[in-house]
Amino acid sequence: MTEKYAACAIGIDLGTTYSCVGVWQEQQDRVEIIHNDQGNNTTPSFVAFTDKQRLIGEAAKNQAATNPDNTVFDAKRLIGRKFSDPIIQKDILLWPFKVIGDVNDKPMIVVSYKGQEKELSAEEISSMVLIKMKEIAEAFLEAPVKNAVVTVPAYFNDSQRKATKDAGAIAGLNVIRIINEPTAAAIAYGLENRTRCVGERNVFVFDLGGGTFDVSLVTIKDNVFEVKATSGNTHLGGEDFDNRMVEYLAREFKKKHKMDIKGNAKALRKLRKACERAKRTLSFAVDTTIEVDALFEGIDFSFPISRGRFEKINMDLFEECMETVERCLTDAKMKKSSVDDVVLIGGSSRIPKVQQLLQDFFNGMELCRSINPDEAVACGAAVQAALLSEGVKNVPKIALSDVTPLSLGIAEEGDLMSVVIPRNTTIPVKKTEEYVTIYDDQSSLLVEVYEGERSRASYNNLLGYFYLTGITPAPRGHPHDVCFAIDENGILTVSAKEKTNGNMNEITITNDTGRLSPEKIRRLIEEAENYKAEDMKFKKKVKVMKDMEDYLYDMKKLVTDKGVSSKLSTVDQVKINSAIVKGKILLGGDQQEDTFVFVNMLRELKSIFEPAMAKINNGWTNEESDND
Ligand code: AMP
Repeated sequence: MTEKYAACAIGIDLGTTYSCVGVWQEQQDRVEIIHNDQGNNTTPSFVAFTDKQRLIGEAAKNQAATNPDNTVFDAKRLIGRKFSDPIIQKDILLWPFKVIGDVNDKPMIVVSYKGQEKELSAEEISSMVLIKMKEIAEAFLEAPVKNAVVTVPAYFNDSQRKATKDAGAIAGLNVIRIINEPTAAAIAYGLENRTRCVGERNVFVFDLGGGTFDVSLVTIKDNVFEVKATSGNTHLGGEDFDNRMVEYLAREFKKKHKMDIKGNAKALRKLRKACERAKRTLSFAVDTTIEVDALFEGIDFSFPISRGRFEKINMDLFEECMETVERCLTDAKMKKSSVDDVVLIGGSSRIPKVQQLLQDFFNGMELCRSINPDEAVACGAAVQAALLSEGVKNVPKIALSDVTPLSLGIAEEGDLMSVVIPRNTTIPVKKTEEYVTIYDDQSSLLVEVYEGERSRASYNNLLGYFYLTGITPAPRGHPHDVCFAIDENGILTVSAKEKTNGNMNEITITNDTGRLSPEKIRRLIEEAENYKAEDMKFKKKVKVMKDMEDYLYDMKKLVTDKGVSSKLSTVDQVKINSAIVKGKILLGGDQQEDTFVFVNMLRELKSIFEPAMAKINNGWTNEESDND
């Protein structure tokens, strides 16, 4: 029986560019998508470090332009990957922040925080985003949150899933289940269309976000959701469409003003922001104007752009999306006519041309637009979270059945990939294969676990390895079993066993090299607490500084008021004025002092100002005060 968890768990869509959190509301019989402190239902997956503080979400994204080296995003692209991974090496070229590899080939993000250099793993950055999502949920629920279901792309491999779980642990969250994003979206679809979801339905999930594109085929039968096939492009999305517009407009600017803005980061940033806004407008209007004041060398730039032009400059990218759709159906061995519904997910799925091409591909079928593309994944995760929680009522009964995104196997003699669990096998799954020794009297053997579709094992992704030792001396061909088990989170355990003559040996992979050790996770949890404490400390300091600023303002206003100053004694006037100067010097400095310095200063200001004002309020004269 599935383990149930106390108190209602939350569902988190931990996205590459934005994250979203939801919770099942049993009274309303629906999922509540929880808005953040700015009133938005999605929160940027950004973390920034400054000389003074750490910022997460909107606050981090808003200052990205002025602090690019220390503003980290896209941690999801790094999580569970090796530094030497060619994908990471390519991504690094595009990021403004620095990434290095540690001794274990783990990518580490280098930032400057409070004047000191810090190296952070992708798990730590993701944990900070998860902390923010946890806090958003806690503020809404007015109760602490412990358990969460977190979503990941269907193609995430074993180490990426484990690393996501680790990020949750660092954030102080118990990740009770990792589910695939398309499955979560299909759940949200199923929830909205309960009456339609009878019998077997094939739902095609089209997820075009800011930087990634994923498509999946999910079947729903008797409330069981199963991902049949997935495909995608990890580097295709809204940002590419923005870049195309930027390139186009930079050319137009050059034509008109004979000046190239290409080398000017600030101008490009301004233009990209305007293009992104225009792109969104073109999803509902047929034309718009891109306007940027003082784009370059003080020149204001204004350029009308039509939806048709936007489509033309991005057409090859849109068509690439359709090729991926076709590949997914081919993989699933399914005709497009067998697809019952097409669900749109991700902000860029709002682009009319994309919708039209998709509709044409599916022979004019009406696309499902009833679910919110930004919130569907978190919504599905919240349903799954409620199902795993003790005593939550009215949750639709559903069961998930996911598939392995890549084939899993071991390296055999001659670097041959021997597949134990083929790609697209439904999980959870446990499979045992028999292998034999290759030498006479072989006493140990190396089990290398790979994932991938190449027949040469070393061309695939090495997940981990271990030795099976103590094999009974015997001629070559002596058998042993290798068992692969994948649990409902998609996490893999591999064991090898020699069982002749009652001699048995078994090893399980619990940690691969890329993963954080339990000690390291424990240490990072402590560090996360320290960050939180530092954030609190900083907030307290900011509050004291603000109180001091307000107090100085009031003091200054009163002492410059003729009615008040005429009643103040000369001594008090001098004391107050010099206290104001002292206070202003403190506030105008680098503000690196500890909070207590500001607290003491505020106390000092009050100790000078309040008695002086009390004398006036008690009707003392200047002379009485001076003689006092
Ligand atoms: P996501 O990663 O799913 O949050 O999607 C973010 C991407 O969606 C960004 O590139 C946005 O510019 C894009 N986006 C959001 N709304 C729209 C819209 N109305 N039209 C076109 N693109 C949009």
